[in-house]
Amino acid sequence: MGNGARRDNDTRGTTTMAAPSCVSTDAVARHAVARDWGGQVRVVPDYVARPRTEAEAQEAVTWAAEHDLPWVPRGQGHSCGGRAQSAGMVVDLSGLDTVHDIGPDFVTVGAGITWSQLLDVAAEHGLAPPVITDHPHLSVGGTLSLGGVGGTSYRHGAQADSVVRMLVLTPEGRVVRCGPRLRSELFTSVLGGSGTAGLILRATLRLVPAPGLVRRIRLTVDGARALVEAQRNLLGDEKPDHMQGQVRVVDGDWRHRLDLAEFVDATAGPSWVSGGRPLPAELASHAGEVERTRHTHREFVHRGAEDEARLREAGHWDAPHPWAAVFLPDAHAEEAVEDILGGLAPRLLGEAGLVLVYPLRSIMLRAGRPALPQGAVVWLCALLRSAPPGDAVAAREMEADNDRVHRIAEAVGGTRYRIGAR
Ligand SMILES: Cc1cc2nc3c(=O)[nH]c(=O)nc-3n(C[C@H](O)[C@H](O)[C@H](O)COP(=O)(O)OP(=O)(O)OC[C@H]3O[C@@H](n4cnc5c(N)ncnc54)[C@H](O)[C@@H]3O)c2cc1C
Repeated sequence: MGNGARRDNDTRGTTTMAAPSCVSTDAVARHAVARDWGGQVRVVPDYVARPRTEAEAQEAVTWAAEHDLPWVPRGQGHSCGGRAQSAGMVVDLSGLDTVHDIGPDFVTVGAGITWSQLLDVAAEHGLAPPVITDHPHLSVGGTLSLGGVGGTSYRHGAQADSVVRMLVLTPEGRVVRCGPRLRSELFTSVLGGSGTAGLILRATLRLVPAPGLVRRIRLTVDGARALVEAQRNLLGDEKPDHMQGQVRVVDGDWRHRLDLAEFVDATAGPSWVSGGRPLPAELASHAGEVERTRHTHREFVHRGAEDEARLREAGHWDAPHPWAAVFLPDAHAEEAVEDILGGLAPRLLGEAGLVLVYPLRSIMLRAGRPALPQGAVVWLCALLRSAPPGDAVAAREMEADNDRVHRIAEAVGGTRYRIGAR
């Protein structure tokens, strides 16, 4: 596995490397997986495996292991830094998208299914995953192998925390079951392991009742410190179900905004989120413009769709994304977020860029490598940079600025979240 250079005596396409039927040397297939969301690493693999079944995946991986061929799993290719790329073989798991079983509080799926596909199936049963990332079209295997966090993660942990058990293909090609109490070492190292410890074939995930209605409130606040303080105040009794701090450049100025939501049923009475009650005092003291909306859960999960369409049209969706993402200890969250944002020139985020700042808890990420910082609550600070289309110089400057972000985080005991560029 991994991205190591392929062996020197590679004999791609010759009879000595006669490949299983799901493995292809087709140029179009190989070039289709040569790039990722980050857009800064380009590696054309010698082979692409497109298994439709778990047996085919095992066949491909066993064959690669026998031929000492490096390989890497790939879901939707939405990570940065070439994590789903290899010069040897890329195993494209999008064909493993079966829903094997669904019960009153769990679902068992193939790891190539996307969260949005899973969500639609779960919704038919009145259920939903407890955590969904901001972009729901990522694969289950892809987010579990990095962690997968969202606005509900301060209540429910990472997506990796919702895994009950998994079926894993080891680097040698063995299929193994694992869970928190069954081969727990393998379980822990695969979750958050960036695809290096094993390939997730199938995962059983905890589900919760799907909310009937999402009431959302977005408030502007005056600066980075207020963005952290307001969210910390909400960690007490007034917790909303979803909480995210967001920073953007709007007309050349920084805009800090809280995006909060409560998950209720249609008969729920008024609250400060819906507007029938006053804002909690600690929040009111920070709040500027306030906007309230109501959504179905599906609309809320797909809330980024309009932005996506706009970014695609303007060429930003396919532009380089030199992302930096760090976890910060609660004790130093304000100062580190202020330092990170204070030294950030608007052009180093990009007009389509976004910074996320929000608190979370996670057991699985705590056990990961690198582990979360100390403390029950940690803060995500993610600079989702977007270079102007075609501007390679800007992309390199953004990448260089990532070093600054990493240094600030490390100085206060923070760690990196691997969704960022390396
Ligand atoms: C627009 C956008 C929004 C995002 N929002 C969030 C967010 O809100 N929260 C968050 O946490 N992340 C977010 N991310 C980051 C995203 O969660 C990760 O990049 C995730 O890995 C992408 O999933 P993927 O299916 O594209 O994985 P890929 O990019 O294909 O793979 C990512 C890593 O997982 C490994 N992998 C893939 N499938 C498997 C498998 N079955 N078994 C083992 N390893 C595997 C790969 O080898 C690679 O190392 C976002 C990304 C984008 C592009």
